Amino acid sequence: MDNIWSERYILVTGASRGIGRAIAIHFANLGANVIGTATTTSGAEQIELYDTQKKIKGIILDLTNHESIDRCLSTLKSQNIQIDTLINNAGKTSDRLAIQISEESWTDIINANVSGPFFLTQALIRSMIRARFGRVINITSVVGHTGNAGQASYSASKSAMTGLMKSIALEVASRSITVNMIAPGFIETDMTAGLSDGIKEKMLESIPQKRFGSPEDIAFACEMLADRRASYITGQTIHVNGGLFVGS
Ligand code: NAP
Repeated sequence: MDNIWSERYILVTGASRGIGRAIAIHFANLGANVIGTATTTSGAEQIELYDTQKKIKGIILDLTNHESIDRCLSTLKSQNIQIDTLINNAGKTSDRLAIQISEESWTDIINANVSGPFFLTQALIRSMIRARFGRVINITSVVGHTGNAGQASYSASKSAMTGLMKSIALEVASRSITVNMIAPGFIETDMTAGLSDGIKEKMLESIPQKRFGSPEDIAFACEMLADRRASYITGQTIHVNGGLFVGS
């Protein structure tokens, strides 16, 4: 049987670490062609070392910088790479109380988590429309649904991404393009490594499965949504959180 992934071209933003790294490796292992992004040259080079079959390319992308987004798109174009699956994974947080958020920090989080992913999606979805096929998968967060004290800008950015991508899902639904969200709970990566043991213990108590998630838990959900057979699922959020939050 033909490998259903070998003709697929999957762009994973933020593939240099954590969840994005696991997603890139997961799709390369399936046999897909993967392009992973990092904000630095060394990060992009690191991505290329993930597999020996040269199925993963690394390129530079800073979502807070319009020129960087344009350069990333030009690189893809110059290499004749037609992305059929965009995984908007890259994201950042800046944890502090709402009353302490500076204008600069607010703008940085919104640009990295919403505006940058929007402009990247807008550009790539044009070619998906022409190809009459595409998958856009957005990594949001449980806190975009629940809120979280100390993460106002991050939570706002993840809620905004959900509203934005649901709207795009409706606009492209008739073109065989699906747009969905995966909302992780607590996943063990650099992003959560800095939390105090006290907070981690409290989090663990509140997770019904009594374990933190792994980046591979998210990669598997991406595979499911990226599969051509998931064609009737669009505008949805899949919560991957061990039961931490089971609401809509
Ligand atoms: P991570 O380990 O901190 O990695 C973040 C990734 O995003 C890195 O590859 C980083 O690239 C990239 N990135 C950061 N700022 C960027 C920018 N301005 N432009 C482009 N890329 C940028 O994070 P993670 O835990 O894997 O999280 C991945 C996604 O899952 C994020 O969207 C996050 O919000 C979401 N999420 C994570 C958790 C969790 O518990 N870990 C929970 C819910 C949601 P560099 O290496 O070059 O800096």
